[in-house]
This record gives sequence, C-alpha cells and structure tokens, in this order.
Amino acid sequence: MQPMMSVISIPLIQKEILQPHQLHEQLSLFEAQMVESAIVSMLSESFCKNEQTLKYLARLLSPMSYLDIINARSGNKICGYPLCHERISENLSDGLLTYSIYCSKFHSKCSLYLIRQLPQIPLNERSGVHSTSYYNPSFNDVYNVDLLEELIRNRISTATVTSLTADFECLEVDDIHKDETTLLDEYSVQVTTEKNSCMKY
Ligand SMILES: [Zn+2]
Repeated sequence: MQPMMSVISIPLIQKEILQPHQLHEQLSLFEAQMVESAIVSMLSESFCKNEQTLKYLARLLSPMSYLDIINARSGNKICGYPLCHERISENLSDGLLTYSIYCSKFHSKCSLYLIRQLPQIPLNERSGVHSTSYYNPSFNDVYNVDLLEELIRNRISTATVTSLTADFECLEVDDIHKDETTLLDEYSVQVTTEKNSCMKY
C-alpha cells in the first residue's frame, strides 16, 4: 500500500508545526530541532499546495533539513521536490533496482536551485520567523527564495514580448538557461558527496 499524499498549506504549517512555539520570539535549539523534524516528517508524505507555500517554508528550512526532506520523500518513493506529488519510478538495469530521487530532470533542477538559496543560519538564530501572530515584511527580503518555475515564467514572458520584435531573443534565453543548469548539476555532485561522507559515520 502506498501512503496517502496530503496537501500542505501555509495555515496548516502554522497550525500543526508553529503553533506550539509562539511563546518567545526566538526558538531554543531544542525547539528549532522539533520544528525541523516536524517539517521533515510532514513533507515525507505530502506536497506543498502552491509555490507560495514552498517559499514560506523556505524561511524555516536549511540546506541540511532540506536534504532530510529529500531523503524522507525518497524513502516513500515520492519525487524529492516538495511541490511535486509524483511517484518516482524504479528501473531494473543489469539486475540492479535503481530509482531516481526525482520524477524528472526538471524537478531535480528546481530542487537544486532552491537548496542553493536556503538560509545557512541556524533556525534558532532566526528571530521571529516562526511567529504566526505578526507579519514582518523584512522576512520577505531576508529569507526570500526564487523558484526555478518563477524564473522560467518571467524569462518566458519577457521572451514572448521581445519575440514580437526580435525572433532571436528566444535563442538567447535558452543559452542563459543552459549555463545555469550546468552550475546546478555541479552542485548536485557536491551535495551528494557531502551527504555520503556524513553517512559513513
Ligand atoms: Zn517531481
């Protein structure tokens, strides 16, 4: 039996994960760990309702907790990208059963694009990010992440407009895109290596 996939939204994250931690502006180390493990656990069998939800979640994540999410999803055979609800398929090659962490190359790139931007500062040092009662507009600047989908959408709309006057503009957009994905692939290798060396101990 495959686990049921549920949808998570900003109000759900606030109610289920953040509500018990509203007493002070800064989380203790222990509370931060509780929040992180609750997020990992929640996202191991669910997916974000929309881009806004994932962008909100980013202020509570770090590259390490994001890797934990990918691993948890992978264990449940769900695409590692938290906006996706696709199951990952298994391949049998040379007698070995292998499966990719993502449903597609595109989601692999989306995921790597996101992890590069996640804040490195420990969650317990991010004052007020977990508060559900007040809205701090500066969080949108400090902890803002751009999703690859947004980037592509913006580029495409620019390209569509410009292509009305210049057809070659599209080619240029493709070229810029190629450079970025190369960088992301390199990062992918780096992350995997770090993770593997951690798991040896
Ligand atoms: Zn996917």
